[in-house]
Amino acid sequence: MAIDTAKETRGFESEVNQLLNLVINSLYSNREIFLRELVSNASDAADKLRFASLSDDSLYEGDSELIITVDYSDKLKTLTVRDNGIGMSRDEAIEHLGTIAKSGTKEFFGQLSGDAQQDSQMIGQFGVGFYSAYIVADKVTVTSRRAGLSEDEGVRWESDGKGDFTVETVRKKKRGTEVVLHLKDDASEFANGYRLRQIIKRYSDHIATKIEMPVEGEDATGFEAVNTATALWTRNKKDISDDEYKAFYKHISHDFEDPLTWSHTKSEGKFEYTTVFFVPGRAPFDLFDRDAKHGVKLYVQRVFIMDDADQILPNYLRFMRGIVDANDLPLNVSREILQHNKAIDSIRSASTKKILGMFETLAKGEDYTSFWNNFGRALKEGIVEDHANQEQIAKLLRFVSTQSASDEADVSLQDYVGRMVDGQQAIYFLTAETLATARNSPHLEIFREKNLEVLLLCDPVDEWVTSQLAEFDGKPLKSILHGELDLPASAADKDASQAKEEHAQTHEALIEKIKTALGDSVKDVRSTTRLTSSPACLVSDDNDMSANLQRILKASGQALPSSKRILEINAKHPLLSRLEAESDPARIENWASMLYEQALLAEGGRLDDPAAFVKRMNDMLLELTDA
Ligand code: ADP
Ligand code: MG
Repeated sequence: MAIDTAKETRGFESEVNQLLNLVINSLYSNREIFLRELVSNASDAADKLRFASLSDDSLYEGDSELIITVDYSDKLKTLTVRDNGIGMSRDEAIEHLGTIAKSGTKEFFGQLSGDAQQDSQMIGQFGVGFYSAYIVADKVTVTSRRAGLSEDEGVRWESDGKGDFTVETVRKKKRGTEVVLHLKDDASEFANGYRLRQIIKRYSDHIATKIEMPVEGEDATGFEAVNTATALWTRNKKDISDDEYKAFYKHISHDFEDPLTWSHTKSEGKFEYTTVFFVPGRAPFDLFDRDAKHGVKLYVQRVFIMDDADQILPNYLRFMRGIVDANDLPLNVSREILQHNKAIDSIRSASTKKILGMFETLAKGEDYTSFWNNFGRALKEGIVEDHANQEQIAKLLRFVSTQSASDEADVSLQDYVGRMVDGQQAIYFLTAETLATARNSPHLEIFREKNLEVLLLCDPVDEWVTSQLAEFDGKPLKSILHGELDLPASAADKDASQAKEEHAQTHEALIEKIKTALGDSVKDVRSTTRLTSSPACLVSDDNDMSANLQRILKASGQALPSSKRILEINAKHPLLSRLEAESDPARIENWASMLYEQALLAEGGRLDDPAAFVKRMNDMLLELTDA
């Protein structure tokens, strides 16, 4: 087969250029992390070769001792990270070092502000990887050969990080990858053995593959190991420092901020396995991207098997990072096998419980607000997805309510139940598109008057949460936008139900008038005690979809038969007294339509015919001025 050996110049994908600029401009104060990223890649390459060799032993080419070497020359101002891992072919080098494979990359860069300070925080969630080399280098040369390819099929990739790179096919005797950094003038501190050892100790000690450096000293020769080189999770918890856990997290997660918390568990029951789980400090940029890969790293008997093993945890916990090392799986385990495997089922349910327990602990501390703001929406999905743990998840939820001091979701269902007033039977909530709409909803009037707390739900997923979570602590969840009101009668209410009946009787004629005027645009018209200052509001029948859910589904492109609403009127309101006294049919129709339309607007709804509404309003205003 003829191989294309010619040297060619190619441009970076535009997102790579953006990433490069961002990395160089925003990470200056933390530049030593480049070494962690390069060692992390070398370690991944070693893991991948170990895994590939399980099915094809010849890939080792007779050399199965995997080593990462960090070398430097203060004369040449170079730093080299070398590995004898899986290596790259020419095509792979072009692909992996010239494009960004992550889904959602375009959207991510679209969100950046251009402000280096702010963007450097965002970049943490994205991960900088290989390109971090350009924080300290003005040229990077990568020479690599994929394990299994012939010595003639090596590749040299080179770039100054300014828009393009070159690739050419070269001879490379040893498989694996060598990354040479030509250090910038102000980065010569990194061509120093002590400095490099210190960085490796800090960030890469946990790397399970041996890392070597040249022996220091006048006449010294040869290389020596500079890391512990045992998989972190196999060590005794007591002997692992917080900094080591944090460094390990950064390696496996590609995040460069610290995790919020972690757990490390060895299970020796029916199935033997070890897990280390981390709660990240910040939600990944692609948490709600359907195509994003997620999951933890799977090892079998300490051999790396796969990234993103998404069977280990339920989908709503996709933001968790970590590793599972299982003893009872075959080394040739595939994603298909993972789907129907007893050991995995058992690991999954125990791990889910373990992680929910971690969240419970977090919920007692100060970090929970931050946790909730980052991951609350994902956790809410758990109410729908994970029925077995629904009760436990429900305790972790936080909402904004009419009692919240700010827009921060700070009310738990336990708080709510603890504050319920005498005789209150239900946990009341209302769903709306925005918090402002919810707060100003006329439906809240009577609840305010009676000092009854209402949860204000504005997250689309809340519609599903409230439809799946029937009750909490024995108290049903009740939408205040649905059905008839059944509020606890306080001492101040003379006799609420009697008052209601009187209401209905006295205003029968008024209701009939409005019904006739509105015809089919409403399901029913009735008098209510729900309102104290507004003239009217709309409610849905008990079994009908809420207006908010209809809006969400329509926005997502679903065709829906629109279900009609019930118009509830506040017969005590002066406007209704006026209407009651009115006898001109045209005016009655205008007034009734106006009531319906303003109720719709107040809940953030859209009018079917806004122009007709405006005309009607103007006619009525003119009548006022004429009078
Ligand atoms: P990530 O490690 O998150 O995938 P990087 O930017 O660090 O992202 O690396 C990009 C890709 O380049 C890697 O996924 C890998 O395919 C390839 N790569 C980088 N360094 C090496 C290496 N030493 N050996 C083999 N492949 C490598
Ligand atoms: Mg990497």
